[in-house]
Amino acid sequence: MTHTDTTDTTAGLPEQGDILAVARRQVLEEGRGLSAAQALACLRLPDERLDELLALAHEVRMAWCGPEVEVEGIVSVKTGGCPEDCHFCSQSGQFASPVRAAWIDPDELVRAARETRETGATEFCIVAAVRGPDRRLLDSVRAGIAAIRADGNDVNIACSLGMLTPAQVDELVEMGVHRYNHNLETARSHFDRVVTTHTWEERWETCRLVRDAGMELCCGGIVGMGETVEQRAEFAAELGSLEPDEVPLNFLNPRPGTPFADLPVVPAREALKTIATFRLAMPRTILRYAGGREITLGDLGTSQGMLGGINAVIVGNYLTTLGRSPETDLAMLDELQMPIKALSSTL
Ligand code: SF4
Repeated sequence: MTHTDTTDTTAGLPEQGDILAVARRQVLEEGRGLSAAQALACLRLPDERLDELLALAHEVRMAWCGPEVEVEGIVSVKTGGCPEDCHFCSQSGQFASPVRAAWIDPDELVRAARETRETGATEFCIVAAVRGPDRRLLDSVRAGIAAIRADGNDVNIACSLGMLTPAQVDELVEMGVHRYNHNLETARSHFDRVVTTHTWEERWETCRLVRDAGMELCCGGIVGMGETVEQRAEFAAELGSLEPDEVPLNFLNPRPGTPFADLPVVPAREALKTIATFRLAMPRTILRYAGGREITLGDLGTSQGMLGGINAVIVGNYLTTLGRSPETDLAMLDELQMPIKALSSTL
């Protein structure tokens, strides 16, 4: 994938031609993602052009990724009580939010992995609400992976355990973790309005270490945290320059007790424009619907997003909010005639 210049403010501006005509040539035909300025032009398209934008994003996804949809399940091994202050997160121990600190036991982990695999999912992500892993957490992840394998489960294991040191990255590689999730969350220029206990650069560094160690990188964020449309475009281009294998795209689901509890939900049309624009910024990535889609898009918008650039979904419950049932999602994929990506093709 080519490097996207996030500082370029002139390339591909609408003056050089209609942005969708430019994107058709640059992204669909050549596979080069949109710059920040180009992403901004897409986000600013009038509502009357939404269908055209979604159709182009779908063409790009089919051309560069194919029709398969990656299905993934997640389990939280340690919930709540996190020392960080990410303002959107009900798992922070700094807010009066209802999620209390809790660990799950190894049997539950094995059962969750088995149920995930039985849906046809190829990815099972082990998540912990921490700043970064300590010895206890790494040991329990190691034991958990061994127990999942002993259960005869061949699902790909992903982890999301916060910021990592180089030695911890090496240890996860050695355990056989094939993908690591660490989100940049939002544009660099907006980050200090969202988190004050660590920096965007610290997050970037963990992402870089993961990628350089040869693990697949899953890195995305949340839209609707008070950022401007310019910052949304900046974020798309920043992610594009990191070249993640997978991008989970969340829309803020304002959680009671968090500093973002009263932020408005992103309107459905704006969310769909964002999905399509992120696809055009990253033609080859696995673009995944993550939390917040139910309240932003509803059922109809969910399938519209699948036809507007999305090619991965999480089945079942999310970390702190209730998602849709696996059956609903799998039936939707069936209806859209999108096959579930098989395990062998991800190896
Ligand atoms: S987003 Fe992660 S690091 Fe931030 S408070 Fe929530 S669990 Fe902690």
